[in-house]
Amino acid sequence: MASTTTTSPLLLLLAAMAVATLVVAPASSVDLPSGFSSITSKIPNPWSAFQDLTGCHFGEQQQGLAKVKDYLSHFGYLPESSSGFNDLFDADLEEAIKVYQRNFGLDVTGAMDASTVAQMMAPRCGVADVINGTSTMGSGGSGSSSHLHGRNLFTYFPGSPSWPRSKKRLTYAITQTSLTSIDRATLSQVFARAFARWSAATTLNFTEAADDDADITIAFYAGDHGDGEAFDGPLGTLAHAFSPTDGRFHLDAAEAWVATGDVSRASSDAAVDLESVAVHEIGHLLGLGHSGEPSAIMYPTITSRTRKVDLAEDDVAGIQNLYGGNPNFKGVAPPATSSRDMDSAAGASSRPWTALVGAVAVAAGLVVAL
Ligand SMILES: [Zn+2]
Ligand SMILES: [Zn+2]
Repeated sequence: MASTTTTSPLLLLLAAMAVATLVVAPASSVDLPSGFSSITSKIPNPWSAFQDLTGCHFGEQQQGLAKVKDYLSHFGYLPESSSGFNDLFDADLEEAIKVYQRNFGLDVTGAMDASTVAQMMAPRCGVADVINGTSTMGSGGSGSSSHLHGRNLFTYFPGSPSWPRSKKRLTYAITQTSLTSIDRATLSQVFARAFARWSAATTLNFTEAADDDADITIAFYAGDHGDGEAFDGPLGTLAHAFSPTDGRFHLDAAEAWVATGDVSRASSDAAVDLESVAVHEIGHLLGLGHSGEPSAIMYPTITSRTRKVDLAEDDVAGIQNLYGGNPNFKGVAPPATSSRDMDSAAGASSRPWTALVGAVAVAAGLVVAL
């Protein structure tokens, strides 16, 4: 995983990347069965070792805590350490974990309890949750728009960068695909659908272009690819994207991406839905940071074998606040309070909520069944 010394400057400068989606986790992880840590170990990921630290708390010294500090530093919860982190559970770590727990709606214990460890191991976007020590996934009620009921937890990058208001048509190019086995035509369809989720809610339009001069460039890379944000193999960080008007969107070529068909039925337990991750990353490309609203596309984590492609009210409020709304946008379905069956936005493709509900069920099943 990226070392802290190389990652942060980039984050501060470019503000951003991101990925994935997520959905499921908070509610289900809070009530994890006691054996959850051993269950998750069956899907190896770059952060699997965190489960060995379950129960660890302030004052303890345990091998592996330095990696937790690297993780929290990477996502903005701890400042970098020029000399490297140690394995002591100190006050700074306790405080960082508390902020992390607040952001993800977990019990604020300041300790590596089972729910926190499980959340930390979830596949996620590589973009930091806390940038410049300020953005905190809206958990403080930072949403400036109050025309919608409920909490607005969307965030922007520091300074709220966006594409120029006069530029309504943005182009994107798929520039680097040699490391993925997904064919070009399929990629074009997946990314077009992902961009359409955002154009439906705003006055922005997106067109695929053939060259690198496009406003947005989409590329599949493996490991270190030159921007200080090395990818880490299956699961872990899935992708990242930079804030406006950088335009770079990178995906980890090592993921078991699913571009067609029902991801919840994928053969690999580590399968990740490409379109779901793309919708999230495009949010970053347009200027949205991470949201603490679990139903939001801009929530930082996503569970494998899960599809989550519909903008939630929180996403719509955030993006319309930045670019204005599409008069033809019919809005998102009323938020489901007892379940997460958010329907799709207007014009969205048809598999919407049944797919999401199914995915959540499968994800929940994964927790219990694996
Ligand atoms: Zn993200
Ligand atoms: Zn990158």
